[in-house]
Amino acid sequence: MNKENQSRKASRFSAEGAVRIVPLHKPETQALAPASAPKLVYRGGALITSVEVFTIFWGGKWQQDPYTGIPAQLNQFFDFILTSALLDQLSEYSVTGQSIGHGKRTGTITLGTPALSASVTDQAIQQFLQKEISSNTVFPQPSPNTLYFVFVSPGTTVTQAGSSSCQQFCGYHDAIGSRILYAVMPFPDCSGCLGSLAQLDALTSTSSHELCEAITDPIPGHGWYDDANGEIGDICAWKSKKDGNFEVQLEWSNRANKCL
Ligand SMILES: [Zn+2]
Repeated sequence: MNKENQSRKASRFSAEGAVRIVPLHKPETQALAPASAPKLVYRGGALITSVEVFTIFWGGKWQQDPYTGIPAQLNQFFDFILTSALLDQLSEYSVTGQSIGHGKRTGTITLGTPALSASVTDQAIQQFLQKEISSNTVFPQPSPNTLYFVFVSPGTTVTQAGSSSCQQFCGYHDAIGSRILYAVMPFPDCSGCLGSLAQLDALTSTSSHELCEAITDPIPGHGWYDDANGEIGDICAWKSKKDGNFEVQLEWSNRANKCL
């Protein structure tokens, strides 16, 4: 749970702030049972119907061993996942006029500058994104389908609304205004964001969590949301499976009444 910005605070949908983070891994025995039976309810807002993912690998460490191979692996993950069963299962959340289908990855960039220090705020990430979108021709212009995935390089903590990566969260998605949709993935160099997974598996699992949430609830709390349990991925956090060769998280299905 996080504080929202002022305009969203005024929304009747999320007076307390919509959940949009991947929480830290907790051993099964410590995991809390859901407060009430999960059920996602549609709040009438926009969905992402044909997601166009643009990946951004920000920070100099992406160009240093042993991390240099990870961006290509994550791009392969998106190329596979965006036309896989994972996206098919989201179609139950299509609504009149907004049919959720497959997506694609439209590009990628690795940026060592501006340099990252030991910590970066969500506000700085938003400013970075806005500046690059307006000045860097490699970046696509935002559309209702565009989803910017920012992978922050190892060694940098992300702070957002008073919370920190590896302390309170392992990733999140949000919107700048309602125009720029983005997800932020800190590097999982802590046990709380690895769970029992290998580093790449933790990254793909957490990315799938945020991807499915961004598609079904791009402006947190305005799409498919459960007041007691949060977004589609929150209900099934840290339960994962293989989709092709990739580790992905289970997602809540209203139709099946379980995590699939
Ligand atoms: Zn979540």
